Amino acid sequence: MQDLDSQTSILLEDEALRDGLQIESQLFTVAQKIELFKLLKSAGVRRIQVGSFVHPKIVPQMAATDELIKALGKQHDTVISALILNDKGLERALACSVPHVSMSVSVSDTHSRKNARKSAADALDSMVDLIKNARNQGLEVRAGLQSAFGCVYEGSISESAVLAAAERMMSAGVDEINLADSTGMANPLTIRSLVHKVSERFPETRISLHLHDTRGLGLANMFSGYEAGVRIFDVCAGGLGGCPFIKGAAGNVPTEDAVHMFESMGIATGIDLKTLMGAVDFLEQALERPLPGRMKKVSSSEPICNS
Ligand SMILES: [Zn+2]
Repeated sequence: MQDLDSQTSILLEDEALRDGLQIESQLFTVAQKIELFKLLKSAGVRRIQVGSFVHPKIVPQMAATDELIKALGKQHDTVISALILNDKGLERALACSVPHVSMSVSVSDTHSRKNARKSAADALDSMVDLIKNARNQGLEVRAGLQSAFGCVYEGSISESAVLAAAERMMSAGVDEINLADSTGMANPLTIRSLVHKVSERFPETRISLHLHDTRGLGLANMFSGYEAGVRIFDVCAGGLGGCPFIKGAAGNVPTEDAVHMFESMGIATGIDLKTLMGAVDFLEQALERPLPGRMKKVSSSEPICNS
């Protein structure tokens, strides 16, 4: 079931403010983050993950997430979302009245132990409780499975392990299941296969995809997900992001490249590409380096081609 409004066929959730910025050592001020939010919103981005409630010592870039969400206040037409990791995060989310939260665990036991210092089974148990608590508080909840398409430590991940974890999340009342290719190990066929299995098992549930472009298959995987029925995709303006623990890790599919792909096929995203470039410009200027997204390079180059 994909209950998006009739004018927008695709929902792109921009995560530049969270997944993109979290590994940047240059700390953005709340004012800079508000500016980026406004640029994304004015381009037509309808869901924006603005930060995470993680301990400020672990991810200093996310320290002022509460302040940012309070400053943004109630937004019309754009859903503000934040990532929570535990009960303390839920408490902080409730204190600043964020309407939508995301949470996720790894399907890979080794990845979970390294990343969350918990076995995958324990992490899933904790997340099930957290989903229930958040739903009881009236929040909209998206729960995700990291490394759903493969793990750098364990190799391939079985579809049955993903389905079993999704079953637990569903029984806790989750609104959306996010399948994450954290390591960029998916390919269009594994995307199609897993999405079909999850949607067959849970036909009433929204499925979203979180695709890292580590091996250059981000857009191909996104299109495969679309063909398999997915209508919600995580993206990052400029393709910002990566992971210090995964060799060669790249960010999510660049928002502008995803917009271009869908719009060029006549599939509406609700996002204006030209306006969106303002957000990419802003990030490149603030970080003083070009970002990986292709559409920025195309749009800013002179129309000369000699070969
Ligand atoms: Zn990610």
